[in-house]
Amino acid sequence: MMKTTTDGYSWTPAQGTQKGGFKCGGVISPPEKRSSTSKVYDVVVVGAGYAGLAAARDLITSKQSVLLLEARDRVGGRTYTLKDDDGFLYEMGGTWVTHHFAYLLKEMTRYNMDRDLIISRHEGHENDYYTINVEGAKPRKLSHEEAGKILQNAWDVFVNIDGEFGHRICPLPHAQLDNIRVRRQEVEEIDKLSCKERLDQVQHLLTAEGVGLLSALLLNIGGGTLENFGFWDIIRSQALLIHSSLNFTDIWSTYKLREGQSSLARRMFNESADFGLEYAFNTEVTSIIDKTHTSLGCVKVTTTRNESLMARRVICTIPLNVLKTIHFSPPLSSKRQEAINIGHVNFMSKIHGVAEGSGLASWNGSAVPGNLVVGYSDGVTPGGDAHIVGFGGDERNTFTPEREPEKVVAAFNGLHPMKIKKTVFHNWCTDPYSNGGPAWWPPQYMSKYQDELQSPHGAVSFASGDWAHGWRASIDGALDQGALCGIRVLRELHHLDSTRSREEKL
Ligand SMILES: Cc1cc2nc3c(=O)[nH]c(=O)nc-3n(C[C@H](O)[C@H](O)[C@H](O)COP(=O)(O)OP(=O)(O)OC[C@H]3O[C@@H](n4cnc5c(N)ncnc54)[C@H](O)[C@@H]3O)c2cc1C
Repeated sequence: MMKTTTDGYSWTPAQGTQKGGFKCGGVISPPEKRSSTSKVYDVVVVGAGYAGLAAARDLITSKQSVLLLEARDRVGGRTYTLKDDDGFLYEMGGTWVTHHFAYLLKEMTRYNMDRDLIISRHEGHENDYYTINVEGAKPRKLSHEEAGKILQNAWDVFVNIDGEFGHRICPLPHAQLDNIRVRRQEVEEIDKLSCKERLDQVQHLLTAEGVGLLSALLLNIGGGTLENFGFWDIIRSQALLIHSSLNFTDIWSTYKLREGQSSLARRMFNESADFGLEYAFNTEVTSIIDKTHTSLGCVKVTTTRNESLMARRVICTIPLNVLKTIHFSPPLSSKRQEAINIGHVNFMSKIHGVAEGSGLASWNGSAVPGNLVVGYSDGVTPGGDAHIVGFGGDERNTFTPEREPEKVVAAFNGLHPMKIKKTVFHNWCTDPYSNGGPAWWPPQYMSKYQDELQSPHGAVSFASGDWAHGWRASIDGALDQGALCGIRVLRELHHLDSTRSREEKL
């Protein structure tokens, strides 16, 4: 029997808003497995999102003793799946996957899920068209092909800062700053631009519809405002799309895991548990104190349950916008602290709407301004209704979906008239364990802070999709950083062990 999580919200006109109590395959029950409270672990991993799961699994299968600590009741962090009573799966955070995610492909293959994909787009339903409602242009219906061409043209103009559609300035998206083909200074110059500034440079080349569709997409991706969203992140994305907007939909928003993200996260966890992983869920970490250079000789991790856990190494996967709530000793470098204080700019809304009838199951649309700026159809529920996913930018000052269901319904209707029977969502912005969505960065942040955020701090390593190379702000980035920190820590532990055994022999 699948357990229920305290995470997530749902709303229906009859029952109003419900918090938690939804089935989720990522919930771990019983929530704790520990052999002893006084043990010194080889590694404590903080956070059971994809970064933490990858690091914990790689270390435990390499014969290290590992304790995984997680504030929530489930694995998956910002990527998890709720299962409705009728069996329909709602992806609450990270959703779309691609075989271009190298680290994820490895995981999908390991757990036999690489071919078990479903497709979001469904053709042939009644409203098989795109609607556009943006400033300066007359609202209208158009074909998906026409909307795609307008957007593609606007995107191409936007990213073409180097005359080669980003190819010259960002040939290697996993080595943006220091690579053999581009001078770092050149990258730093472009990294100063915001999306708004770049749009101002090229707006005269675009139609009002082009500007509107592009703005909606940028707000959807970045989850902030055009002013605080760094243009470099779009160049990085373009490079990850193999420098062609033709690849956009296929790489970015087509494929989902048939069994849901929580199923993959659960398989990673189960394998770790089989190898002896110890863990404590519902356990919030408050401080990480490195005492490896004192007589204690290890790192002390304290929790809100007033416990102190000891480990030779710690991998902290706490999201960028949450790190400011954790006490570190010795203090973090001033540069890392500065980066944490600024944080990322993604405060997006992602809301699932169940719209009466299957007619809208082939519809997509954009509306700017609006609390939801884009809506994508994503299948038909077992009850025969269209499943729509709506996305909005940073509307925190005026829009709190769990408190204002009428605004949510209005926002869906701002995209296209529809009768909303139900909504399902997670508010990542009011969630204290994420304090925002995936990490899209403001101007200049990448060149100033990326290296620092990826670096270790004494015996504490930091792994997160929030500062990954390449696929930052994605599932792949989280797995990438988790794997990287896992191997780094493994090497450090091997080094410590071999030094100790050499000393003992002397
Ligand atoms: C709405 C949304 C849509 C997205 N769409 C996509 C997509 O389609 N495709 C894609 O590839 N990516 C997508 N992403 C991005 C992707 O989900 C994230 O980049 C990735 O899940 C981050 O993983 P992580 O392990 O780095 O962080 P997290 O998943 O956030 O894991 C960190 C963990 O640390 C825990 N934690 C926090 N504070 C504490 C504490 N004090 N003590 C103990 N534990 C703590 C958290 O509860 C969490 O479980 C999306 C994200 C969101 C939010």
